[in-house]
Amino acid sequence: MLLVIMLVGNACETTKIASTKQQEPSVIADIKFQNINVIDAKDGLQENMTVLVKDNRIIKVAKAADMAPTGAKQTVVGTGKYLIPGLWDAHVHLVFTEGLESSMFRLFLAHGITSIRDTGGQLKLVLPEREKARKDPQNSPRVMVAGPLLDGKPTVYDGSTPNNPHLGIGAGTVAEAEKNAAEMIEAKVDLLKAYEMLTPEAFKAILAKGKAAGLPISGHVPLSMDVIEASDAGMSSMEHMRNLEFACSSDWEDLLKTRQKMLFDGQEEIGSTLRRNIHKAQRAHAVANQDATRRTEVLKHLADNGTWQIPTFSIMTAFSERFITRTDWQQSFTYLPSKIRDTWTKNSIAFARNTPVDPSSKDYAKWMFDMVGHMQAAGVEIMAGTDCPIFFLTPGYSLHEELALLVKAGMTPLQAIEAATTKPAQYFDLDKELGLIQEGFFADLVVLDANPLEDIRNTIKINAVIRDGKLHNREALDVLLTATE
Ligand SMILES: [Zn+2]
Repeated sequence: MLLVIMLVGNACETTKIASTKQQEPSVIADIKFQNINVIDAKDGLQENMTVLVKDNRIIKVAKAADMAPTGAKQTVVGTGKYLIPGLWDAHVHLVFTEGLESSMFRLFLAHGITSIRDTGGQLKLVLPEREKARKDPQNSPRVMVAGPLLDGKPTVYDGSTPNNPHLGIGAGTVAEAEKNAAEMIEAKVDLLKAYEMLTPEAFKAILAKGKAAGLPISGHVPLSMDVIEASDAGMSSMEHMRNLEFACSSDWEDLLKTRQKMLFDGQEEIGSTLRRNIHKAQRAHAVANQDATRRTEVLKHLADNGTWQIPTFSIMTAFSERFITRTDWQQSFTYLPSKIRDTWTKNSIAFARNTPVDPSSKDYAKWMFDMVGHMQAAGVEIMAGTDCPIFFLTPGYSLHEELALLVKAGMTPLQAIEAATTKPAQYFDLDKELGLIQEGFFADLVVLDANPLEDIRNTIKINAVIRDGKLHNREALDVLLTATE
């Protein structure tokens, strides 16, 4: 370069030559998607595009016809294929089923899930999982953790039964609730999760701590509170639309008073039993007595306050829809470690055979499906999450069912994709660089063999997954799926 300057001796000429020379290496990508159909929540479908990835970022997105020939270490011929942003499962429990923990990452990745939000697990168990993911991002999803459920007393997930493992910590006083929240913040969790047995005072104390630390506060609306009160207090998101039916019932004030009395009288009971009895006493009644005016008021508060909803249809409708016995669902158990596969196969079939569908669970599912439509109309934000691996929800596979159920609830396929890509990124303030296929964004991507906008079930037709800039082709994904031992 120095030689050029000396020979030419003209400042303009020199600069031109120098800049041409400097640009050469930058057009060499690590991965080139050639002539692929790009889909993201911002621009919808863009056909015949070229997308370039370098390191772990998308560096170019352009019409294939407009692109000059570009060198790349790997080229994916995209004709007839669809590129979508990597998916999130925004409600999982990494440490829940013994023996499944070490399979969670491979199952997520193999199903195109490149980010997850863990919504409850003991700190000493979930923090090492997050650490593992951070050390090896190309072979793990991005992991956000809440730590344990910050509950009141009695505590629901206190480890008293196999169905209620020790996921929660209970606070009997406001000071204890503050201490529990402070411990989570100290451990650098990514969000807090408040739970159903909290008093309004303890709940608000947790919110104040979380807000001061800049963390989103998710959870179940405490049974002692009304949804509007919890939303106005600053709750960021409500899981499973839990206890929303109570708030939209015509007699919501009476229901609230009854719940408060049941909580007061039930102090000596087992937490999970008390919670179940309260739901049992009020849910069917509330679903049968929904009040449209009151619902409009509740949803307006959720929309105005930015209180998001994660319907988790997968878990909430598994009892009524019974997809766990479907052939493809049973087939998905073959991806699990053999011992878990055998248990799930046996127990899921026994459950379906021995437990008749409760008509009230059908009514509740219908209420949920309808409510998503009302929430969309009211401008309430929605994210896609499953609650896997609870109740035979195969990690990874279940998220695709969730997307289909969101569409069944009235979302367009693109809105369902948005709920699993840009929306969770926005929830964590990552939406400037995650969740879209745009220049500068993280290279977390999924290549599909068919168009998900024509049929949302096409999201399962995965040709390749790109995580943190690393391409996992179909062969590599099959290796992940079959690594069961
Ligand atoms: Zn959960």
